Amino acid sequence: MKLIIGNLKMNLNYYDIGKYVDYFKNKNYSNVFFAPSYIYLSKFVDSGLNTVSQDVSIFENGAHTGDVSSIQLKSIGINYSLVGHSERRKYYNDSDFVNKKVIRLLEQDIVPILCVGETLEERDDGRVFDVIKDEILTAFSKIKPEFLEKVIIAYEPIWSIGTGKVPENEEIEEVINYIKRFIKDKFSFDVKVLYGGSVNNNCIKELEKIRIIDGYLVGGCSLKCEDFEKLIDSIS
Ligand code: PEP
Repeated sequence: MKLIIGNLKMNLNYYDIGKYVDYFKNKNYSNVFFAPSYIYLSKFVDSGLNTVSQDVSIFENGAHTGDVSSIQLKSIGINYSLVGHSERRKYYNDSDFVNKKVIRLLEQDIVPILCVGETLEERDDGRVFDVIKDEILTAFSKIKPEFLEKVIIAYEPIWSIGTGKVPENEEIEEVINYIKRFIKDKFSFDVKVLYGGSVNNNCIKELEKIRIIDGYLVGGCSLKCEDFEKLIDSIS
């Protein structure tokens, strides 16, 4: 069964989130995960929904106003976290911190879902594989391969996020193949790779033809309950 993660980003107020949780809490999806803002994480966990943090602090604990540590996430029942999402790389220089964040997550036995992907300029320059290789090597730096085995990769071409532009199936397939092969050769484990970038009810039928996709990271289409439910129902 494919993994499906709804990344709610910084959307929905407390009232909307209540309705959202009520909509999904009795569906009993084992393969569907929700990544709401920090302030709503407990609400999702307590409603029995599979819950993913959108980020984590590089620090263990202490005087870091505004941060949330992996220890705190674990203590409320979080077992998965996004890390290195392109929006955090863009607005908060997260490419510089992604390795520390992966380490913090692994220390608490939280599965890091590492987001990687190229800009359009990097794609046009033929640098897709190099960019992705660098992002993976940076994120995994100084971590023993045996600790990395639970990491999941989300391939998210930056030019596809929130734009409605989806790569050709062959383009997605060659990158996912590259990631799987690279990680197997370099770190000796079989990694799960999700695709993210404008996944919605218009393109899912086509994307579902790609056999090597292990799941999807979904932004915009996860915000409306009915749209997300329809998408979930059409994924095998
Ligand atoms: C994302 O930001 O992770 C994402 C995939 O967004 P969207 O589906 O809106 O492109």
